[in-house]
Amino acid sequence: MSPTREDRAADGGLVIGRVRGIDIRLSWSVVVIVVAVAWSLADGLLPEFAPAYTTGEYWFAAALLSIAFLVGLLAHELGHSLVAARENVVVDSITLWLFGGVARLSSSPSTPQRAIRIAAAGPAVSFALGVMAVAGAMVTGGLVGVSLGWYGAINLLLAGFNLLPAFPMDGGRIYQAWLWARSGDEGAATRKAAAVGHTIGGALVVLGLLEVLFAGAIGGVWLALVGWFVREAARAEVQRVVVIEPLRHIPVAEIMTTAPQRVLADGSIQSFVTELILGGRHAAYPVVRADGSVVGLITVNAVRALDRDAWPTTTVGSAAIPLEQLTVVAPDANIADLAAAMERDRDARALVMDGQRLVGIVAPSDIARLITAVELAGPTGAAIETVAS
Ligand SMILES: [Zn+2]
Repeated sequence: MSPTREDRAADGGLVIGRVRGIDIRLSWSVVVIVVAVAWSLADGLLPEFAPAYTTGEYWFAAALLSIAFLVGLLAHELGHSLVAARENVVVDSITLWLFGGVARLSSSPSTPQRAIRIAAAGPAVSFALGVMAVAGAMVTGGLVGVSLGWYGAINLLLAGFNLLPAFPMDGGRIYQAWLWARSGDEGAATRKAAAVGHTIGGALVVLGLLEVLFAGAIGGVWLALVGWFVREAARAEVQRVVVIEPLRHIPVAEIMTTAPQRVLADGSIQSFVTELILGGRHAAYPVVRADGSVVGLITVNAVRALDRDAWPTTTVGSAAIPLEQLTVVAPDANIADLAAAMERDRDARALVMDGQRLVGIVAPSDIARLITAVELAGPTGAAIETVAS
């Protein structure tokens, strides 16, 4: 069953919109960015470089700029996401938070060339925004000119900073894909790029702390936090590779339950509950028509959502999750891709179909068991992260 929008929102911030099926989320921590950016502009940079305006005018420009800054971060992530979609990588969501943006991908690019195009798209968008704003600053003046100048500079900085070869930042992803293209070994490339990312993250922490010690700058705290974040993200990526890589070589057929018990679509929920929920061993069953064609999946949760009085008159087929909303895989698909698809689909089972024919079913516990055998936990979805600077 697909999680509801509310569930998903609770996962990682407020859903503020959707672009081509991608949830755009706002974490509450972006308030810190908005306030910090607006304050430093209204109370410092704008009056310094564009004197003789009123306090109200400075705050108005600063508020607009801090919103524009968020829009710039979103544009950067959309750059990654729209190119990813074109490269056959499914994008789940974009979240804006304290350290910038995160585009969560639920599968990985299949070739290093694709990975490079996806990683480069974000900085390319920031660079283009930066150049346009700087050009605007050159043909205007006063408060507008200074505002555009700041916006251009911050976006150029964002493009440059994210191109640091600190995996999993964009530059590090390009470096990883380059290593991958050279050696053909994606896992080894990730491990090497992540080791470099870990080191650069550590260097940023040290730089940030030195800045705090010797310059007393609040920016140093931020830099140190970013460095720590990059270190942790590099560690998580290595863990992901360690867990996911072996699954890439195992077909779904090896872990699926073959010939799962089917339920007829025109039977009633009442008899389904009596016979299979109370008497059976599973929490979900494939639903078929009399001719054997698959209708969908009936789950305990779907039954729970129904009014008990309606059980005798509701057919299993009408309460089932339709086939189009289910994760459907071929028996020879690999488990790494299936795990990523099911990650987004917490409650449901994946149906294994050989063409139109149902041959098996996979429960999350089947994959969990396998992953436990490799190593417990670790996030499964890759993420493209932008660090705001
Ligand atoms: Zn990026």
